[in-house]
Order: sequence, then C-alpha cells, then structure tokens
Amino acid sequence: MRLGAMAGLATGLQSKNVVSASLNETSVPRGGVKKYVTLGRTGLQISDISFGSSRLRDGEERLVHHALDLGVNYFDTAESYTGGSSEAVIGNALKGLRDKVVIATKTSVSSSTRKEAIMLSLEESLQRLRTDYVDVFFNHAVNSLGRLKNPEWFEFVEKARQQGKIRYTGMSGHAGRLIECLDYAIDQDMFDAILVAYNFGQDPEFYEKFTRSFDLVAKQPDLPRVLAKAKQKDMGVVAMKVLRGARLNDMRPFEQNATFAQAALRWVLSSRNVDAAIISMTSGDAIDEYVGGSGDQQVSQQDFELLQQYAWMTDSSYCRHACNDCEGSCPYGVPVSDVLRTRMYAIDYADLEFARSEYQQLGAAATPCLSCDGQPCKDACTYELPIAKLCGPTHIMLG
Ligand code: SF4
Ligand code: SF4
Repeated sequence: MRLGAMAGLATGLQSKNVVSASLNETSVPRGGVKKYVTLGRTGLQISDISFGSSRLRDGEERLVHHALDLGVNYFDTAESYTGGSSEAVIGNALKGLRDKVVIATKTSVSSSTRKEAIMLSLEESLQRLRTDYVDVFFNHAVNSLGRLKNPEWFEFVEKARQQGKIRYTGMSGHAGRLIECLDYAIDQDMFDAILVAYNFGQDPEFYEKFTRSFDLVAKQPDLPRVLAKAKQKDMGVVAMKVLRGARLNDMRPFEQNATFAQAALRWVLSSRNVDAAIISMTSGDAIDEYVGGSGDQQVSQQDFELLQQYAWMTDSSYCRHACNDCEGSCPYGVPVSDVLRTRMYAIDYADLEFARSEYQQLGAAATPCLSCDGQPCKDACTYELPIAKLCGPTHIMLG
C-alpha cells in the first residue's frame, strides 16, 4: 500500500509536469561556492557544499584542485577510503595550502581499541595527508554504544590535542542504531561535530508534503530531533549521503532548471539543523554540478517535484540508511543492510571497485544467500524490499 500510494502520486506528477522536460544546461546553476558556514562550536568556516572523498583514487589530485578552484575548502576523508589513497591524494593536492583548507579524517574505534592504536592510526593519516594536524578527527561509522564508551578514546583525544595533532573531534554514522548513538553522544557532549547520513528521504517533512493521510513515513523520524539537539549544543552538523543513492543518470530526463543533485543538496541545507553537506566528488562535471547548488537554501516547487520523482523511481529497491528493521531476520547472520549498501555502491554509484572493497570488509557477508530459499527474510523489510533477490546477486557480483 505504501509504495503503491507513492507510485500513484508520482505517476500523476510525471505525466503532468515532468516527463517531457530535458536538462536545460544554460539555466542549471553553475559557478563557485557562494556560501561559507560556521561548523558549530569549532568556529571553522567551511564551504556549504564540500568535498567527500570516499572514492578518490591515486592520480586524481586534479579533482581536489578543481574543487579548490571553485572555492571548496573543506575536505573530508578517512584512513579506510580507497585503502589510504584518498588521504594521500588530498595530501599531495593540498601541499603548501594547509592554512587555506579544513581537513577532516576518520578512524574506526571499537569498544576495545587501545589509545596507542588510535594514535598510530592518526599519525599514519597525518603522514598520508602531509600535515601536522587535522581539523576534525572522527570516530568513523559508529554503530554501537560500546564504541562510544571506550575510555581509551578520551585519553587519546586529550593527548592528541595537547600535542596539537587534532583540533576538534567528531563522530560519523550511517548504520543501524544511529539515533541511539547520536542521542548518547550528544547527551554526553562527547564531540564537537557530527557527520550523519541525512537526505530528503529521512525527513518526515518530505513525506508530509505528499499527504498526511497515507502511511508515507520516513525511516528515522527521530533524526531531525537529534540533529536539532546537536545544534542546541552548538555541535557542527555535516550531512552526507544526501542523494539517497545517487542514481543521477536516471534523473536527467526530468531535470530542467536545476539538477536532482542540486535539489537534494538544497533540501538538506534548508534544514536549520544542518551546517554543510559533503558529497563524493568523482569528476570535474560532477563538481561543477554540485557546487553549482551552493548558496541557495530555498527548496523550490521544481526541486520538490524532482525529489518526489526520484523517490518514486527508487523506493522499491533502495535500502534506507541506518534502517535495521530486518536485523535478526536472517538465521545465518547475513548483515542485510550492509550488503545492500555495497549493492548501492555498485548499482547506483556504478563504482564496482569501491563496492567490492567495501563488500570484502563484511567477511562472509551474503554467501549463505546462495543456498537459502529466502523464506526467513521474506517479509522482514519494512519497505517490502525483496531481500533474498537483492542479497544473493550482490554476493555473485561482489564476492
Ligand atoms: S536469503 Fe536466506 S541467507 Fe540470505 S538474508 Fe535471506 S534468510 Fe538470510
Ligand atoms: S532491507 Fe529493508 S528493513 Fe532491512 S535495512 Fe534495508 S530498508 Fe531496512
């Protein structure tokens, strides 16, 4: 019913307003960064649309330079991105420009990681980044309270700050238990900034605009609440995964005066609880397109219609970030949401290399799906996704 209702609404939209439209290159906003924002209590001034580098590979310094030329000054990376190449490329590209840019990187701290190991990770990142310090150091992809409660993190932070190796701290998250982890971290005032998966599809207000009478609800209706709480504590809030899957080519026929990506960026930036957004910058054209959305935080009716169209087209295959409703449904321990996240990298982002490297980090992942009849997880998805039909082929593709 939920998806059927949405499809019906969007079909009307498609036939009425959008289907004959084609991308009007001359009227799509371009140009450099038009707005710099304050990243909460850090006081750092960063471009509202900033550089995500999870897919930045060896030899791609030109992408960093291109973004820099357009005014992007915040570069987000992690030790795990492209096996360390992402940090190294950013380090090479920004050599000699350290005082003009803001650099954030991440390491994954488990509930038992020792402070010496965290320090070693940081020092290796600094080496690759060719710098003495990072502006924000994130605990990466936090998905359990145990990881937040590790006392070694705090001892590490104190020492690293004393040594001038980090200026501010943060946590990033996009998995299940995100709300629980954010609530805890914010209540404990543990970080200066947070980096969270947040897009129009996670905002109840987006669905409320369809109609209030259908069961069209966002996963994680609590996300806006915790973001507001973070802002009350003056934490910096950066959104990531703002495109809800990034099937950009599918949207080209419907774009007119702005692109889908620009509309999606505007949606998150229109939230008073979000300071800035990062987005994977993988080509010069993509950078032009994304940065072209800088500055304007008003979501127009055309923007909304693009987002609505996208939601209609992708809802039956898109595994919601940070949703874990199906957790426990698989008796063989397949981490469904993680498997489907890697599928998104392969299918939606069209980046097999990145998808494979992420999939390999999941261990046995979806191997059991190859010899399972799919009954245990048949009705486990809140959004009616056919889990067995998606996970098995993902293993064949990426395993
Ligand atoms: S198909 Fe079987 S093995 Fe795969 S997720 Fe579903 S229940 Fe688990
Ligand atoms: S498969 Fe469905 S229930 Fe499971 S994480 Fe994805 S959206 Fe949520």
